[in-house]
Amino acid sequence: MKQKNVPRTGKLLAIQDSLVQAVYDTYVVVGEIAWITITDQKRGAIKLKSEVSQVLTKKQIRTVLLENSIEASVIENKKVVELQVFEDLTDAKVGDKVEFTDNLLSATVGPGLLGEIYDGNQSRLSEQLKTGEFMERGNHFPSLDEEKLWDFTPLVKVGDKVSGGATLGWVPEYKIQHKIFVPFDITDDLTIESIVEKSERNVVETIATAIDESGQKREFVMSFKWSVKIPIPYVKRTIPTQPFSTGVRILDGQHPIMHGGTAGCPGGFGTGKTVILQGIFKNANVDILIGGFCGERANEIVEVLKEYTALIDIYGNPLKERMCLFANTSSMPVVSREASVYISLTVGEYYRRQGLKVAVMVDSFSRFAQARREQSGKRGDIPGEESFPMNIKEEIRAIFNRPGCDQVNDKETGALTFIATVSPAGANLSEPITRAIKTTTGAFWALDRSLSERSWYPAVRRTDISFSKYEGFIPADIRKAVHKSLEIRQDVADSIALEGEEKVDLSLFVDYHKGLLLEFFLMQQDAFCELKIDNQTSSERLKVMYEVSMQIINADLSFPTHKSANKYFQGLLRQLKSWNREKFETDGFEEMKQKIEQTLKD
Ligand code: ADP
Ligand code: MG
Repeated sequence: MKQKNVPRTGKLLAIQDSLVQAVYDTYVVVGEIAWITITDQKRGAIKLKSEVSQVLTKKQIRTVLLENSIEASVIENKKVVELQVFEDLTDAKVGDKVEFTDNLLSATVGPGLLGEIYDGNQSRLSEQLKTGEFMERGNHFPSLDEEKLWDFTPLVKVGDKVSGGATLGWVPEYKIQHKIFVPFDITDDLTIESIVEKSERNVVETIATAIDESGQKREFVMSFKWSVKIPIPYVKRTIPTQPFSTGVRILDGQHPIMHGGTAGCPGGFGTGKTVILQGIFKNANVDILIGGFCGERANEIVEVLKEYTALIDIYGNPLKERMCLFANTSSMPVVSREASVYISLTVGEYYRRQGLKVAVMVDSFSRFAQARREQSGKRGDIPGEESFPMNIKEEIRAIFNRPGCDQVNDKETGALTFIATVSPAGANLSEPITRAIKTTTGAFWALDRSLSERSWYPAVRRTDISFSKYEGFIPADIRKAVHKSLEIRQDVADSIALEGEEKVDLSLFVDYHKGLLLEFFLMQQDAFCELKIDNQTSSERLKVMYEVSMQIINADLSFPTHKSANKYFQGLLRQLKSWNREKFETDGFEEMKQKIEQTLKD
């Protein structure tokens, strides 16, 4: 029987890494958060966060007793629960106290998320850093600054009827109008009983009260918690229609994504996954950017924090103002790193519900899968392929189904775009996680070592494996023509490698050179371009580049010898390369374009 407001506690029974068992005698809810109080050698009593992962059956209890040489009498008539602990368990002892909370693993949403950097538990790293000790376990800070005042403007009045998702008012958060919602899961019709006037408020004071259908009074503050494994409901789901600009030519041109779409980006170590995501962070045409970084080493996280907080966006503003980051820290065990994926998605859905364009980017999604594998391994579940849980495909499918477009009212449509890198072991694209993503995602950007080794960046496979099911800025027939030209380049390059270029038919040799031009000036792009021109390409510039690419493809060119063809194309490539260094919409850009067009006619 569920009894509210009675403190429910238990005691640790057995500890194995970050999965522990505890005895209890009331009730527990699978998925609820439990706090374990342990005695840290240096700091004394600290509380570690955990989640109830399952209630053990009699048979499972016997196994635990047996494996840990525990006398059956210890259990008596008590029940046993398994907890997944989100923090390092060093110093934990059998008998340590467990407190159950009734709260599911959740994200706190409300004004103040932007500009924050969190750990995977949504604890603010800025606060952690103030304690002087970098990312210590057991330090839990409110997810939102509870003292900060926000300029609240009410949008309802006494007597109004509201329910979940209704807008009580708004506050300015950097450049956005942040709507203050009635929590989405309230289905009752409520009648507003009081609402504060336009005033400065913090996120924990009451701004409105309402009476529900049964006459119960409810109070609202500007923030609330939302359980991360439950998607924030759509108002009206619509299909993606607007191209998303990544600023990366090969993506926007050949393998585009749309606002509200999904993309998977698999690649071996060092093939450029992180560089691509960083580029998208800087260049994407979205309102809100959310990053879930599931790296391994603490120093990697420090680097991420330094780099991203210093970034300036395409509009010349600090990126921080529209960004929220979740970085798993080394004090979080590997098995709990899935939490940050769910939390970043939930926060993304919250901003989508505001009617905004949001991008959630996860680097790397493989950590999520590894966490799930370790959990099920420790639990002794029947393993699926490569020891991943049997249902991992369904889990991935469920995650990739959460992004999308939501028409939140007559005027606004929010979009949540999801981009996940994947780091398959041995760069093997046929491993189960990459395969599951490939069959679920709308765009697939496969990175290839043979390209990165030659510095043909971005090392996205141009003509095979990579795909997109979306329409982008470039019409499909033009995309196809470029695809074909790149394919010819590849095929002819293979025969040249075998037999030398003289053996290649002259007209085919011309087609090969055309493909090579597209490869060098259109596909390749230097993310670290010092002039800050080539590193990002706007959709407008991209369209002009494709226009010229089509002129190249369609140019009627013939040469007496292979040598003369080489010479002509070398000259043309030099022109195209210098065109890439000209700023868009300048005289220099126009002049160079005309020169190139002239060369194509000569
Ligand atoms: P991964 O995340 O796949 O391990 P990174 O994104 O860290 O790989 O990239 C490794 C290196 O490759 C970078 O440090 C950089 O030198 C180079 N690189 C990757 N992409 C590009 C690019 N678009 N332009 C220039 N250099 C790149
Ligand atoms: Mg990386």
